[in-house]
Amino acid sequence: MTAVPLPPLREVIRAHGLTASKALGQNFLFDGQLLDRIARVPGNLAGAEVLEVGPGPGGLTRALLAAGARVTAIERDRRCIPALAELAEAYPGQLKVIEGDALAIDHPTLFEGAPHVVANLPYNVGTELFVGWLSAEWQPWWQSLTLMFQREVADRIVAAPGSDAYGRLAVLAQWRSTPRIAMPVHRSAFTPPPKVMSAVVHVVHAEQPEGVRLSTLERLTAAAFGQRRKMLRTSLKAMPGAIEAAEAVGIDLTRRAETVSVAEFCAIARAIG
Ligand code: SAM
Repeated sequence: MTAVPLPPLREVIRAHGLTASKALGQNFLFDGQLLDRIARVPGNLAGAEVLEVGPGPGGLTRALLAAGARVTAIERDRRCIPALAELAEAYPGQLKVIEGDALAIDHPTLFEGAPHVVANLPYNVGTELFVGWLSAEWQPWWQSLTLMFQREVADRIVAAPGSDAYGRLAVLAQWRSTPRIAMPVHRSAFTPPPKVMSAVVHVVHAEQPEGVRLSTLERLTAAAFGQRRKMLRTSLKAMPGAIEAAEAVGIDLTRRAETVSVAEFCAIARAIG
């Protein structure tokens, strides 16, 4: 329950002059039911800490607050801050707004516990943050990630071996986490509508496989997928020790990178050391 009634989102946009900025990748969501469904993806948020990146006029923020979350929101667009301040007033003690660039903020220092991260971000910013969050110290500082991506990027994150979408992003996202597509989102749900379809991806972290280093896995997948159509005995030449390691764990070097499972990449990386 809000302490004061909230005006409809479209009215907030009008009142604060929040015309969508292309430069800031702004495509807003207004459908309350859709926003509630997104806010339910991380699970029960009653009393939970949430980091929201790019709240904009606050549609998703409203849904998170209504679900009982304690939200810390980082927004770069100064024009949105007064609208978000109204939300903070309507949910006393539940919303802290930080004006700034999420790429320049050290997120873990903002929380005592492990927050759920929720964001509907521009494609480039979202991908850069996502890769950074997946490369964090393990166990990571976050409990789960619920992120809107272009459908094509979402498919690459959850891709299985053997598909065209399978590559470095899939391995990075899957070797010590479990990503899934929580829901597709039609382009017409956004104002203004982007050119492509979107999807919400949900990620929870798992145990890091013993003896596998992220830096080794990164170099290995860069070599293997750098020439994804070539056999491993050619592509792996780019990384010293990789061919011997693959042979040592019984990987057939006539295979191509896109057929090598995440567990097999981990086994090779472990053998490299
Ligand atoms: N969450 C709102 C919604 O779903 O309607 C807005 C989504 S809009 C796609 C992306 C938001 O991220 C915009 O409000 C934009 O200003 C903000 N943004 C873009 N780059 C950012 C950055 N580097 N740090 C923080 N916010 C950013």
